[in-house]
Amino acid sequence: MKARIGLGIAACAVHCLGHPLGPSNISGEDVILRDVAIIGGGSSGTHAAIRLKDHNQTVVVIERDGELGGHVRTYTANSGIRVNYGVSNFQNYSVVREFFSRFDIPLVQYVQPGDTDVYVDFSTGQPVPNGTLPVPDFTAYLTEVAKYPYLGQSWELLPDPVPEDLLLPFGEFVEKYNLQDVAFTIAQFAIGNGNVFEQTTIYVLKAVDYDYVQGIVYGQGVAPETYDTQSLFNKALVELGSDVLLSSTVYNASRSTAGVELVVKTPTGRKVVKAKKLLVTAPPLVGNLQPLGLDKKETDIFSKFQSHGFYTGLLNNTSLTPGARYYSADPNANATYDVPNLPDLQFIWATKDPDVYWAWYSSPTDVPEEKVKSDIITRFKDLAPGSNPEFIAYANDSPSTVGVSADEIRDGFYNDLLSLQGYKNTWYTGSTWVSDHSAELWNYTEYELLPKLM
Ligand SMILES: Cc1cc2nc3c(=O)[nH]c(=O)nc-3n(C[C@H](O)[C@H](O)[C@H](O)COP(=O)(O)OP(=O)(O)OC[C@H]3O[C@@H](n4cnc5c(N)ncnc54)[C@H](O)[C@@H]3O)c2cc1C
Repeated sequence: MKARIGLGIAACAVHCLGHPLGPSNISGEDVILRDVAIIGGGSSGTHAAIRLKDHNQTVVVIERDGELGGHVRTYTANSGIRVNYGVSNFQNYSVVREFFSRFDIPLVQYVQPGDTDVYVDFSTGQPVPNGTLPVPDFTAYLTEVAKYPYLGQSWELLPDPVPEDLLLPFGEFVEKYNLQDVAFTIAQFAIGNGNVFEQTTIYVLKAVDYDYVQGIVYGQGVAPETYDTQSLFNKALVELGSDVLLSSTVYNASRSTAGVELVVKTPTGRKVVKAKKLLVTAPPLVGNLQPLGLDKKETDIFSKFQSHGFYTGLLNNTSLTPGARYYSADPNANATYDVPNLPDLQFIWATKDPDVYWAWYSSPTDVPEEKVKSDIITRFKDLAPGSNPEFIAYANDSPSTVGVSADEIRDGFYNDLLSLQGYKNTWYTGSTWVSDHSAELWNYTEYELLPKLM
C-alpha cells in the first residue's frame, strides 16, 4: 500500500515537506489550487466542471483518457463522416437543451442510423424465421415502469422498504407482468447488464426507464445536428483549457474535513492539486479509487460492487447489407425469449457512414480484448462469408452497470452508499450514483449536486 502524503491541507503544509511522496520538489506552478477537483471527465464530470465554472467556482478535471467524454466516442471515418460508437442520443430535457445551446450546438430529433432490422441466429449466420420474435408493444411495460417515478433519479429517492418487485430477477418480473413481447427488445436496450433475465429488476428498469422508452421507441430523443456527440466535449475542453489534466491519474491523496490534496501523474510531470472539495465521477470500484486512500468505511461499501463487461467497436470491409441493423437471436428452446447467452456480440448497427458498422458485445464478466475482437470478427464473417472485416475503432466500456445483489439493496446498501456523499469533503456522481443516461446525470448535477457543492 502506498504511503499517505499527509493528514490534510493544513497539516500537510508542515508535515509533507520532505516526505518521499509529498510535494517537496514540486514548483509553485505545479501546485494547483481550486474550489473543486473532479476525477473523471466523462459525461457527468465535464458537465459538472462547466456548470461549476458558470457559478464562479474554480475547478480542475483529472481525466485518465486523452480526451473528455468517457463513454462518448466519435470516430472520423475515411469518408470524413463522424461516426459515434458511444453516447449518441439524449432525453429532451431542459438541461440537455441548455448544455448544447451553451456551446452553440443545434439539436435535432434523434433518428437511429439504418433502415432495416434483421434478426439473425449469429451461431449460424442465418436469419431467424419470420414470426420467431413477437412484435413488441411497450404499453404494459410502461404501466409497470410508471409505478417507480424515481428510476431516472438518484438512489436518494429509493423507498424504504424497497418494493420487492424491483428486487426480482428480471426474468421473473417479465413473467409476473406478462412482458414477454418486449423481453427481447429490452435485452438489447439494457445491454451492459450481463445476462439480463438474471439481473436484478431495478437495474434493468433504470437502464430502460420511462423517458428512455419515450426517447428511443417513440422518437422523443435528441442528438446534435451533426450527430457528432464528441463535438460537445471538444468544445468543453477548449473552454476549460488548462483546467483539464488529460491522460492523468491520481496516485496519492489525503482527504479530510479541511479539504483534499491529490498527487497527480500527468504527461508533463507530477502535480499537486489542493481543493476544498473533491467530486468523483469515475466508477467507484475499490481498485479504481484505491489511490484516494480509502478508509475501512469506504472500502467496506465500495467492495460490495459487482460489474459487467461491455465492449464496442467500429468495423469496415464487412460486406454487410447497407443500412441493416443485425440483432442476435437464438431460436433454440434453451434461450430465454430468444436472447443468446453471453458473452457474445449482441447486435450490429449501420452507421452514418455506409462502410462502417458498429458492434456491441457484452458479458457478465470481464473479457480480454483479444477474445472480444476475435468473437466479433467470427460473427461478422459468419454473416458475410468471404468478407474480411477489420476493426477501425475499439472501446472497453467496462465496468458496466456497477451494482450490488438484491439482498444488499434490501438491506439498505444504497443508504450506506449515500452516507459517503460529503464524507471527507468527497462527493460523487456518475452512472453508479444516479442512472446511466447523460440527461439524467446532468439533471442530478444541476438540481441536487451543485447546491450541495457550492
Ligand atoms: C456504447 C455506449 C453507448 C451509450 N449510449 C448512450 C446514449 O445514447 N445516451 C445516453 O444518455 N447514455 C448512453 N450511454 C450511457 C453512458 O454511460 C452515460 O450516458 C454517461 O456517459 C455516463 O457518464 P459518466 O460520467 O457516469 O461515465 P463516463 O462517461 O464513463 O465517464 C467516466 C470518466 O472517468 C474516467 N475515469 C475512470 N477512472 C478514472 C480514474 N481512476 N482517474 C481518472 N479518470 C478516470 C473515464 O476515463 C471516463 O472519462 C451509453 C454507454 C455506452 C457504453
